[in-house]
Amino acid sequence: MAKFLEYQGKEWLRKAGMPVPKGKVASSPEEAKEVAEWIGGPVAVKGQVQAGGRGKAGIVKLVNTPEEAAAAAAEILSKTVKGLPVRQVLIEEKLDIKKEYYCSFVINNAREARSPMLMFSTEGGMDIESVPEELIFKLNIDPIFGFKTYDAIDFCVKAGIPDDELSKFASFLTKLAKIYKEYDCQTLEINPFVMTGNGDLVCADCKMEIDNSAVGRHPEFGIKIARDLPGEPTELDLIGWSIEETDARGTGFLMNMGYDEVSPGYIGYHPIGGGSAMMGLDALNQVGLKPANYADTSGNPVGSKIYRVAKCVLSQPNIDGYLLGGFMMANQEQWHHANALVKVLWEELPKKPGLPCVLLLCGNKEDESLEILRKGLADLMTPDGPGKRIEIYGKEYVTDTKFIGERLAALAKEYRAEKEAHGK
Ligand code: GDP
Ligand code: MN
Repeated sequence: MAKFLEYQGKEWLRKAGMPVPKGKVASSPEEAKEVAEWIGGPVAVKGQVQAGGRGKAGIVKLVNTPEEAAAAAAEILSKTVKGLPVRQVLIEEKLDIKKEYYCSFVINNAREARSPMLMFSTEGGMDIESVPEELIFKLNIDPIFGFKTYDAIDFCVKAGIPDDELSKFASFLTKLAKIYKEYDCQTLEINPFVMTGNGDLVCADCKMEIDNSAVGRHPEFGIKIARDLPGEPTELDLIGWSIEETDARGTGFLMNMGYDEVSPGYIGYHPIGGGSAMMGLDALNQVGLKPANYADTSGNPVGSKIYRVAKCVLSQPNIDGYLLGGFMMANQEQWHHANALVKVLWEELPKKPGLPCVLLLCGNKEDESLEILRKGLADLMTPDGPGKRIEIYGKEYVTDTKFIGERLAALAKEYRAEKEAHGK
């Protein structure tokens, strides 16, 4: 899913007419100070990462002066939360909070619903998982008629909102429901939205995720990749997306995993299918190797698509090997993989002579595929050739992750020793 950071979600909420605190994003303590001066008065400094529970992680701080805002920003920007470095902070006017509420709109996939669903609680601010079930109110929203004011009033009465506040809450929730639909959200969670001292409802937090399939309808969002990514897309992510976006014939997935290009032990990772990808990781884990990237060429992709993915996987710098992990009896025609691999290895291995390449393929057209690999790569696999560490396996090894891992590890060890001997 295409996810927005809190500050981005809030900007889209603001544009749609929702009340959000006055504020701006900053990337340095100096900028944070300027924003705090512009706001004037006490502010909240909030680390921007794709993770919940920021309050508990110590990256939401309340301060009184611009100097303190700068100091809080410096501290928050030095942190990493759930593996994600904090690169920006949102500086907002501090809210005068009387009470915190929870609401979210999600898709209810249950057979009897298959519609958007509103969840609401008067116990906002904490993880919704820790709110008792009886304090969470849910309503499926008719996808055609939408969420009307009378639905909202009815719902708020059931949720225990006092009479004199009904129209305020109903108007807040119906506006959000409309935004949820217009922006093609998958999730829109406001936890908390708060009632301030003078009785206004304000969105204090925002988690907005756009339906990947609808991203094309929203050029205004400027989403480069309609995929779930932990942060800004890397160059490899963008290339991977371009392979998928321009060719719908089977899956050709490629994604960066943030490997550091100087450490040893990373393998260009090319599994075929999700289950296979897990077994491939099992193979690597058993011998202390790591995947440089994530990939997947399943769903019977054409050879040209597999070729493009494999080419990217193999061209990653400083990898210690390449694994084509067909840990499954695929019914897709495996000769597309075989043909693609022959072409790629002839092109890439002369640039990385001796790179270990363990190729496991099995399933439909297996015999033909292994024949294509053996014949097509024979002249590359001579004892002194750039393909001297290519090994080809079929169905006998389809569940033997230990064996495949060990072969890769043994070849990688040789390869590194050879590289070091040549001073590379
Ligand atoms: P989260 O922990 O990642 O969900 O971050 P939130 O934006 O929800 O902030 C956590 C908590 O900070 C809220 O539930 C509030 O209780 C508290 N908080 C106190 N003052 C403020 C304020 O002025 N603004 C905001 N946004 N939160 C505040
Ligand atoms: Mn929150």
